[in-house]
Amino acid sequence: MTDNNETGFEGGCTCGQVRYRMTSRPMFVNCCHCRWCQRETGSSYVINAVIEADRVVHVQGEPEIVEIPSASGKGQRVARCPACKIALWSNYAGSGDAIRYVRVGTLDNPDRLPPDAHVFTVSKQPWVVLPDDTPAFSEFYRRSEQWPAESLERSRAALG
Ligand SMILES: [Zn+2]
Ligand SMILES: [Zn+2]
Repeated sequence: MTDNNETGFEGGCTCGQVRYRMTSRPMFVNCCHCRWCQRETGSSYVINAVIEADRVVHVQGEPEIVEIPSASGKGQRVARCPACKIALWSNYAGSGDAIRYVRVGTLDNPDRLPPDAHVFTVSKQPWVVLPDDTPAFSEFYRRSEQWPAESLERSRAALG
């Protein structure tokens, strides 16, 4: 696609109305196998690129924010294309608006961001076979034990 897509990470919805660009690599990529993510995607898991909100530039269009229930009980805010309703990223109550969970499947080239960890494998669909070289957790992990130091620093800066 564009030159920017060589260094950045561009993506968008299915109808093309909303386009975004991540201006750097994310801090971490989670593959979540929880039942909530399975239902929300209609699939077996979701792959979320965890990145500072100010590193997601809106190239075209503006998503609409839809509030939905979440496993924590605190709700999740999902950014969707107002026309085709494809979900592009979420904010969770824990990290607020400062951190976005960009759905890797909406990138033009999702192959560039394989998961750094698999989480909630307790409800992984049994036919999904995980690679041996990626950490997997029955529920979640401690960030301080899994995230690179640089990503922890970025997260601290974003959360103020
Ligand atoms: Zn759309
Ligand atoms: Zn999940």
